[in-house]
Order: sequence, then structure tokens, then C-alpha cells
Amino acid sequence: MKPFDVYPLLDVEPVKASGCWLWDKDGNKYLDLYGGHAVISIGHCHPHYIKKIEGQLERIGFYSNSVRIPLQDELAQKLGDLSGYSDYKLFLCNSGAEANENALKLASFYNGRKRIIAFTKAFHGRTSLAVAATDNQSIVAPVNETENVLFLPFNDEAALEKAMNDSVCAVIIEGMQGVGGVQVPTDSFLKKAKSLCEKYNAVLILDEVQSGYGRSGKFFSHQYSGIKPDLITTAKGMGNGFPVGGVLISPKFKEKHHMLGTTFGGNHLACAAAIAVLDVIKSENLMMNAKGIGDYMISALRKITGVKEVRGRGLMIGIELDFPYEAVRNELIFIHRIFTGTSGKNVIRILPPLTLSKEEAEIFLHAFASVMKKLLVK
Ligand code: PLP
Repeated sequence: MKPFDVYPLLDVEPVKASGCWLWDKDGNKYLDLYGGHAVISIGHCHPHYIKKIEGQLERIGFYSNSVRIPLQDELAQKLGDLSGYSDYKLFLCNSGAEANENALKLASFYNGRKRIIAFTKAFHGRTSLAVAATDNQSIVAPVNETENVLFLPFNDEAALEKAMNDSVCAVIIEGMQGVGGVQVPTDSFLKKAKSLCEKYNAVLILDEVQSGYGRSGKFFSHQYSGIKPDLITTAKGMGNGFPVGGVLISPKFKEKHHMLGTTFGGNHLACAAAIAVLDVIKSENLMMNAKGIGDYMISALRKITGVKEVRGRGLMIGIELDFPYEAVRNELIFIHRIFTGTSGKNVIRILPPLTLSKEEAEIFLHAFASVMKKLLVK
């Protein structure tokens, strides 16, 4: 049997990693500004993270989802404290798609409705929503505008106002759109979504799977707007590479047994990984670092010729080019040995570990500027 080939993969085989750096099997060293797609939050192989996981390894032999795992309480406590959501409750699962599925389920239990509002270019994982109206259709399950899912233009308050009524179950929106090319919702749009959800007793779900966990410079990106969503979904950076996801659930949802369920969610290793991530974000001031280095990079990138637009917050940055990204990305990887992500046809996406230093940012900025110069001269 062979793996089902659904991803275009680079011919690079990492064998070692530390902080923002990776080494391949031939000894080449790479700067990682992609982080396994926003997954590496505290840096590769952080010693505290490795130690915490190693401390739980023996438990893998007697895992059960029907007994108490005290690490789940520690995780919920620490996540509540660091995110500012200590009055919310936490449901643990294994991925971003699962977190969103559970959030949608909670929303429909809450108001008994089915209709979901999402936004163009959104991506919420391979869920029943299958929302991903990006121009890169290859990454997408069928765009699934059904009678229960309505896609509205992003950041369009009038369209949202017109579409809202008391048959809407939930509005789901990313803290910052990732797959859609790093689009930031305006504060005013998020406030409008919040007030309309309140007015019609609909549930506001903030998908912070990619934009959360300190990446934006705040714990969750929506916190720039001052709103408090009803449900917040998280994954990716939560486990720094170990699969873990969660839903933060506001006090207005009353839990009862068997309402949600999971076989592996909240297992010892996932909790140990997620606790270590929170410990390091706090002790190393990584939200502040993400903001400082991110602001610095965004303003430097805006000055580079050939860059059409730079969007984002903190260390989630989309660099829109005047031309397709392939040549730039290939030069960065194969000549300068720098990993970046992409989106659509002409956006380079920067999603590095939140530990990125100014010197490391400079390495990228110099390489990027020289690649742009070379390609524009040609
Ligand atoms: N939501 C957002 C905003 C994402 O970016 C992703 C993944 O890219 C998901 C959900 C799905 O997460 P997962 O791949 O862990 O299911």
C-alpha cells in the first residue's frame, strides 16, 4: 500500500530541529517561517516541551477516556488564565476540524436551529461546512453552499445585517483568515457580528485554529476588537506539533453528560504538550515577541518593491505579490533555505514559531528582498 497522495510535498526530509531551524538528512540547515502551517508556536523541540511529554510517555499504555485525567484540569486552568477566558469551559478534541464540528453542534443544541453563516475565502477545516471558497481549489473539499450554509462577503456589515434573522443558528468567522490569504476582519465587523448574534439569539463562533495561541500578538486575534464570542475553537499552535484541539465555551452553554464526546481528546500526551506550550508562551513572553517582531516585519515588507500588499497581525503575515508566488517561494527554499507558506496564487504566508528573533527575521527580510530584486530585474 502507498500513502494517498493529496499534498504537494517538498523534497526535503528534516531529521533534526531546534527553535526556528531545521536540518535535512544531507545536513542542510533551513530557517522555518512556516512552522508546519502555524503549528510550531514555541519553537521546534523546546526542552520544556520535550520533558513534559516524556514525563507522560508511560501513561500511553493505560489510556482510557472514561477516567479522570488531572492534566485536563491543569490545562483548562492555565488556558483560562493566559487567554483571559477563565469563566469559559474547555472541551478537548484532536484537531481544528473536530473543534469546529463540536462548536457547530453546541450551537445547534443551544438554539435548535440549523442555518450557518460563514464568509467567502473562509476555511474551517474538512468539516460538514467544507468552507473554503479560496481561489486555490486544489486544497478544498467541494465548496458546499447548501440550504443550511450561507457564504457572505467578508467584512461586509450590510450583507451580514441583511442576512441575519431568527432562523440563524451560528455565525462562524476566523480570527484572521489564513487559507484565504491572511485577511483581517475589522473590529467594527466583529462587533457587528457580535451584536447581531445577540439580537437574534444566534451563536458567534470564532475560529482561532490558525490565528490563536499568541500568534497575533494577543492570545486570540479577535481580542483586538474587544468582543467576547460564545465559542472559540483552537488547535494548531496549541500542541506545537502534537495533535490537540479544543472549544472554549462561554457560561451561557449548560453542559450535560453525553452532549459531546471523544475517544482520544484530552489524552495525557496531548495535555502535557498543550500545558508545556502555555508555560513557554507565558515564561518567554511570546505574545509580546510575536507583536514586536511581527510589526517590524510588516513595516519592512511594505517597503519592498514588487510587494502589492502586506496583511496580518503579529507573526501571521500574508505578503501579496504582483505575480504568482512560485518563483519566490522556490528561491527562498532552494537557494536561501527558508521555508514559507503560501495561499491562493500570489500570497506568501509567514507563520513562524513565536520565538522568532529580530536576527532571524532579518535573515528572511534580506533574502526576500534579494529574491524580489532578482526576479523583478529578469
Ligand atoms: N480552521 C482553520 C482556520 C484552519 O486554518 C484549519 C487548518 O488549516 C482548520 C480549521 C482545520 O484544522 P485541522 O487541519 O487541524 O483539522
